[in-house]
Amino acid sequence: MKLQCERYWFRQSERASPKFIELIFNQEPRSDRNAVKQLWPGVDGRLSVPYKIDSALESRTKDILKALNMISEKTCIQFLLHTNETDCLHFEYSNGCASYVGCMGGNQPVLVGPLCKVGNICHEVLHALGLHHEHSRFDRGDHITIVYENIVSGKEDNFMKKEGNTFGLKYDLESILHYGDKYFSSNGKPTILPKESGVKMGQRAYLSDLDVQKLRKLYHCGMS
Ligand SMILES: [Zn+2]
Repeated sequence: MKLQCERYWFRQSERASPKFIELIFNQEPRSDRNAVKQLWPGVDGRLSVPYKIDSALESRTKDILKALNMISEKTCIQFLLHTNETDCLHFEYSNGCASYVGCMGGNQPVLVGPLCKVGNICHEVLHALGLHHEHSRFDRGDHITIVYENIVSGKEDNFMKKEGNTFGLKYDLESILHYGDKYFSSNGKPTILPKESGVKMGQRAYLSDLDVQKLRKLYHCGMS
């Protein structure tokens, strides 16, 4: 079967952005994060995403496979080594970590830098699958406060709200797609304050329960 991108519009008026979402440790320099628009095509509640790893990343193969496994062990999304499919994730070496949001078609680069750990790679793959940042949810105001005066000048865009499908799931401070509290800080002070005390944001170690649920809903896992 020939895989091709399926167009899936949450909002007819929005178009896919060809720009990368970038992540380099505490910095997520720029992006044009719109709602999820393009999903990878699945059949009967199962999804196989072809991937290949550039030879320059050979030494990172284990980490990439671990990152993919974080997703496949909890969802109906599988990753298969690319053979002749039209569309695939192509892990490429770069300075930082970056991904498009959603299925863009063709050889879709996912950039992996030397400092990107397993959890960072997983975060990028979630973007490639169609999820955007948790803290850009339109209903974030009930859960976090953005402290604009502490944000590096010119980087405020990274904190803009985006309307999109939240699948009826509650806001998730624990999401692997949530910024940490000092991302883009110009002065070492927090740029995001949680309204609930004692919570941590910005973990890159595991998929939260809600991350898993989001992926399952996005790809209709269990609906075969
Ligand atoms: Zn990101």
